[in-house]
Amino acid sequence: MGQLFGTNGVRGVVNQEITVDMVTRLAASIGNTLGKEIALGRDGRLSSPMFRDAAVSGLLSVGCNVHDFGLLPTPALQYCLKNLNLDGGLMITASHNPPQFNGVKVVARDGVEIPRSLEDQIEGIYFGKGPKLASWDNVGKIYSRDVIETYINKVISLVNAEKIREKHFKVALDLGNGAASVAAPYIAQRLGCEVYTINAEIDGRFPGRESEPRPDNLGNLQLLVKSTKSDLGIAFDGDADRSIFLDEKGEVLYGDRSFALTAKDYLKRYPGSKVVTSVSSSNAIVDVVEKEGGIIHWTKVGSVDISRAMVENGIMFGGEENGGVMYGFHNPVRDGSMTMALILWIMANEGRSLSNLIAELPQYAQMKDRVKCPNDLKEKVLKILASKVKAPKIDTMDGLKLYYPDGSWILVRPSGTEPIYRLYAESDTQEKVKKLVEENKKIIEDTIYSIL
Ligand code: MG
Repeated sequence: MGQLFGTNGVRGVVNQEITVDMVTRLAASIGNTLGKEIALGRDGRLSSPMFRDAAVSGLLSVGCNVHDFGLLPTPALQYCLKNLNLDGGLMITASHNPPQFNGVKVVARDGVEIPRSLEDQIEGIYFGKGPKLASWDNVGKIYSRDVIETYINKVISLVNAEKIREKHFKVALDLGNGAASVAAPYIAQRLGCEVYTINAEIDGRFPGRESEPRPDNLGNLQLLVKSTKSDLGIAFDGDADRSIFLDEKGEVLYGDRSFALTAKDYLKRYPGSKVVTSVSSSNAIVDVVEKEGGIIHWTKVGSVDISRAMVENGIMFGGEENGGVMYGFHNPVRDGSMTMALILWIMANEGRSLSNLIAELPQYAQMKDRVKCPNDLKEKVLKILASKVKAPKIDTMDGLKLYYPDGSWILVRPSGTEPIYRLYAESDTQEKVKKLVEENKKIIEDTIYSIL
């Protein structure tokens, strides 16, 4: 059987790897699997209206009623379909990928991406006999639904809006020409902020900057923060589930900084609670959570694994090292605007600048790398590695994570989407982390060559 779903939905280059025919058949297979009342949303990509119409046709053909939410952030679709008690939803988006890509994220009735078991079921229909079509008099109906206000109001209701409004923060937003434009500026405005924006026009060619916010493409936002004397800057990815923060000096904070800051605040409000994160997360998160008396619940790498662990265990806070914060009182999924509101709330409560709040968080030297490895050798390589590597503590939840007595660690895991092994490492100094990566990279390469 073929495979459609990667680590985060179905993605590919438009009209090459993902076509209208595919999306129609996929949407019909999803309709067969999830139920009758299905939400549909899209991001601002040039091909998104085309795929929306394909998805509508597929869903109607199997008798689903389509609730078209229009252009909105992925987390807005996720929250609103749960709020309306629908059976599930589809988001036409390729998240932070380059403009030639598009894809489909599939959301269950609980507002979280579907688990792997349902993906298998959908692929079974798609690659098998195909979707079961409705009779002519049972094809579905389509409804347009304007839900963005519901989403905006919910995010605002979860923070102390009065307290934030008193501060009259100045906020600089880089909306990345993406779906964040229809929500984030309005949320900031209603929280009493003076809002400055760049790349606010929705444009699927992403003329302002690449759709994935990274420290090397946020120069314009840095300038905006400085020239407007803003209290903070925030950049969103294409479907607005991730946000990256800049302090008032224009310094870009890596994702784990905002995650650690919000986790610390959450544990102050809910002492002794659990926080979900994946085995690739920084010791900074572990230190913060333990210091506040909380407990880490570890998962495999992947936002869906974190979300699903939150749902299954009733945990209200989770996050990823790349800046995806999940606030369960809203919805246990990544949400760039919710994270923005939480950080504004922390700043209002503490009465200190963002750089000051970040300065007191623990910091470690980190390094990521990759080693090429054919997909069919990955499993065998992992087995050999497990017998070769030496460390006092080894965790096998996702690949191999080796812990050393001085607090250093390295995670070696096969990528789910590419023919590579990913390496994540952390230590207290840059020299140590570099050495750790180099040594282990050599062991992996030698292992691969020995069985090629
Ligand atoms: Mg995204």
